[in-house]
Amino acid sequence: MCGIFGYVGHRQQAANIVLEGLKLLEYRGYDSWGVAVKIKNEKLKIKNSFVLEKHVGKIGDAKVNLPQSSLGIGHTRWATHGGVTVANAHPHMDCKKQIAVVHNGIVENFEELKEDLIKKGHKFISETDTEVIPHLVEEFLKKEGLASSVRDAFNELKGLSAVVVAYAVSKEIIAAKTGSPLVVGVGKNELFVASDASAIVNHTKKVIFLEDNQMVILGDSLKLIKLPEGEEITPKFHILDWKFEEALRGNYEHFFLKEIYEQPKILQSIALNSLGQIEGLSKLIDKAFGTFLIACGSASYAALAATYLFSSIAKKHVNFAVGSEFKYLEDFITDRTLLIPISQSGESIDVIEPVTRAKERGAKIAAIVNVLGSTLFREADFKVLLNAGVEKAVVATKSFTAMVAVVIMTAYTLSGKEKEGKELIIDAARNVSEILKENYVIEIKKVVNFLKDKDHVYIIGRGLSYATALEATLKFKESSYIHAEGFAGGELKHGVIALIEKGTPCIVFAPKDETYDDIVSNAQEIKARGGFIIGIGPKNNKVFDRFLETEDVGDATIIPQVV
Ligand code: GLU
Repeated sequence: MCGIFGYVGHRQQAANIVLEGLKLLEYRGYDSWGVAVKIKNEKLKIKNSFVLEKHVGKIGDAKVNLPQSSLGIGHTRWATHGGVTVANAHPHMDCKKQIAVVHNGIVENFEELKEDLIKKGHKFISETDTEVIPHLVEEFLKKEGLASSVRDAFNELKGLSAVVVAYAVSKEIIAAKTGSPLVVGVGKNELFVASDASAIVNHTKKVIFLEDNQMVILGDSLKLIKLPEGEEITPKFHILDWKFEEALRGNYEHFFLKEIYEQPKILQSIALNSLGQIEGLSKLIDKAFGTFLIACGSASYAALAATYLFSSIAKKHVNFAVGSEFKYLEDFITDRTLLIPISQSGESIDVIEPVTRAKERGAKIAAIVNVLGSTLFREADFKVLLNAGVEKAVVATKSFTAMVAVVIMTAYTLSGKEKEGKELIIDAARNVSEILKENYVIEIKKVVNFLKDKDHVYIIGRGLSYATALEATLKFKESSYIHAEGFAGGELKHGVIALIEKGTPCIVFAPKDETYDDIVSNAQEIKARGGFIIGIGPKNNKVFDRFLETEDVGDATIIPQVV
């Protein structure tokens, strides 16, 4: 996921404003970056043109050496077409260097467009698909104004893209999108555009979340346009209630750690403030003729947990599929189905696509989502907002526990025991804050020291703890680069046990529930083959070689266990 930032306004520090914006978007992952600003220097031959600074690698504490300007755009690139080189880094320009473009996504038909533009005399300097955009705009500009040129160029692009075009002659920025997110910030005599509101919120809290097939023109004023035709529409402004400091790392070594430590507060706040939304969701589930949960990655494990919780607590059967598999399962969707997509960003295409298709079949969409204004948030008929704040680490932590808290409270609400559900989450929040205290972290670190040089880790659980095991497995893979596999405890004897040899580490999630005895006997099977057992749960057992104690908080035990 790349990052986009643009500025046009009264200040002359566009380069720095853009650079600082890009630094706030770094968490999205990238391999190179660049900034372009309009040159003011009247002595130059082409006075209304752009100058660029581009680099391969990380921004870190970088400073840019660019002139003063009140118009600038920047980009952190995640290369898809063309290697990671300075020439391929964005922004890209037209032949006259008056149009600068940053782009997120893929121009699927770039080869034919490029061929055609080369025939018309345009010179290309990169291998990217993106570079066709400034040249295409340049071509249209020969016959029409800027806005219609960008509109026509954008309409020619196939694939999903977010495009930001800056024009040095008229000092304007035009942004359009299908797919990737773009947010416009409206300040006092200045306008911003970025991939994510967290990069804008230190300048202004007034934003517009750009929708697919919309184009916005930012200059002395703001104009919103519907694509492909171009009729003007009235923008919907949102006022963000985020504090800028919340999006910063503070004293934490990295965002992953910061976000782990934010969990007790978020869980507490969900317990105290989300009941209204959760009651709404419960009513929809009650009324629906078939409920389908869809999600990807960590969110899919929260959805898997929901299937167990809805069954055991609410006596409700719900279907579940990972987003990318939904298209092979959707034949049962009707206008009486309820689809519950769960997503942190609300932008994952593997979740958005199923939502679009289910909507076409008339299904109702009730989203559980963290990012206000995201595509999923806008597309849903009903939403439960997680309010977990910006999750920058990419690896899910607080969003996952927030999702689990919401599904637990929903299951309890469905069975008329909302107070009990709420109290479980408050208890879980308290236990998580205990776990995050220094003396407990020392215990965790001892286990980590044992695990850190291992090649493989096996993780097992049953019932709700099966979802915990899968989430734990994903964490090992994506944040420690250790191969991990998660299983339902009962599956061991069906083949997996062959992998256990002397010293193989195995984490066993053993809550004090109906799974305890069975999972302990699975642990014994592993031990019999020489496995090294790390138990996590409220109740120690002599089969565990190491034990990390978490409190028994009923169905919410999954929360401290996963932390
Ligand atoms: N496809 C473009 C490129 O490779 C944009 C990639 C991105 O989204 O960062 O340059």
